[in-house]
Amino acid sequence: MDADVTIIGAGVVGLAVAGALADGRSGIYILEKNDSHGRGTSSRNSEVIHAGIYYPPGSLKARFCIEGREMLYEICERNNLPHRKTGKLLIAASEKEMEKIGQLYRNALRNGVKSVSLLEEKEVREMEPNIKAFGALHSPETGILNAHSLMDYFLHKAREKGAEIVYRTLVIGVEIVSGGYRITTVNAEGEYFAFTSERVINAAGLQSDVVARMIGKQYLLHYCKGDYFSIDGAKRDMVRRLIYPVPEENHVGLGVHLTLDLSGRMRLGPDATYIERVEDYRVDKGKADMFYASAVRFLPFLRREDIIPDMSGIRPKLQARGEGFRDFIVSEDMPGFINLVGIESPGLTAAPAIARFIKNIFT
Ligand SMILES: Cc1cc2nc3c(=O)[nH]c(=O)nc-3n(C[C@H](O)[C@H](O)[C@H](O)COP(=O)(O)OP(=O)(O)OC[C@H]3O[C@@H](n4cnc5c(N)ncnc54)[C@H](O)[C@@H]3O)c2cc1C
Repeated sequence: MDADVTIIGAGVVGLAVAGALADGRSGIYILEKNDSHGRGTSSRNSEVIHAGIYYPPGSLKARFCIEGREMLYEICERNNLPHRKTGKLLIAASEKEMEKIGQLYRNALRNGVKSVSLLEEKEVREMEPNIKAFGALHSPETGILNAHSLMDYFLHKAREKGAEIVYRTLVIGVEIVSGGYRITTVNAEGEYFAFTSERVINAAGLQSDVVARMIGKQYLLHYCKGDYFSIDGAKRDMVRRLIYPVPEENHVGLGVHLTLDLSGRMRLGPDATYIERVEDYRVDKGKADMFYASAVRFLPFLRREDIIPDMSGIRPKLQARGEGFRDFIVSEDMPGFINLVGIESPGLTAAPAIARFIKNIFT
């Protein structure tokens, strides 16, 4: 088999790229080490369609989040994919925190997120009577979706136009050859296979730096884990919007926040803890007290026993512990070889916009 385009990794980004590039003519292959798609970070996140409030103006994170959000709502509506524009409140616990909320408000406007507004305590209470806040930023464009339905949609779209997905296939080497790249893989039975591809998209998520190094490009990812705790179902109708505190400094995480899924289930998290480079998804039950203490400040109806360990995800961060903001890397580092590295949040929201950007590079 020789390929026109090979996409390494079947997470939401690789699948969105496949959906955008497949045209019924080119030989497009998606290679995935697991036995199904979307088993990595793409199925271990908050499933939030972000508005684009936090990211520095001019960054790829801001640009792709805003473009991706608009594209996602359109895709979901046109294809009846489960989603809901819940809206979100970014809340301040004090007057001092309200200053920070004001900065985020101005940042959102600079990013072109015009729908945001600032609310006083009374207005917050009218919207969400069960939460406690000094004031808030209201983001009506924020929403939630079902990440698996979205990935199934991208894969279906790609397959319909001739792309093929090959599971249980780990890419272990890439060699630069005339006319493209020689890709070596090993499957779950230990069988090796090599083929040539004219173009390659590295969408390998937590392993994208390892794949980039196969063509000599040095990136280094740091793993930053986020645990989630769910809230007892009896409390499910207490809050209708997503509720976020003031984010952590330096864009490490967004702070332990309250998200809802499409069934109305409430979840707290994720926190942000740098870990060794292992994909260990066990939830640290010992964090329950910390989660409770963080959340009860704005969810006064919570009881300690309402909080149950749920799941976790790992952020592929370019930003090392203690460092400042790092942007997505979307870079054609060799002719026809595009590295997608550090695609942490808002990567789910940004996926269709990243895919469109790559399509424009290739056409
Ligand atoms: C805790 C958490 C919460 C988040 N919340 C949100 C949110 O609410 N909204 C939002 O927009 N974003 C969110 N994100 C970010 C979002 O989930 C990610 O940016 C996005 O899922 C990244 O998708 P991906 O396709 O790049 O990576 P992945 O989903 O990790 O896919 C990469 C794929 O590559 C495969 N792979 C790796 N190496 C190889 C190889 N050598 N050969 C073959 N296959 C390989 C893996 O098996 C995997 O399937 C969150 C992230 C985390 C960690």
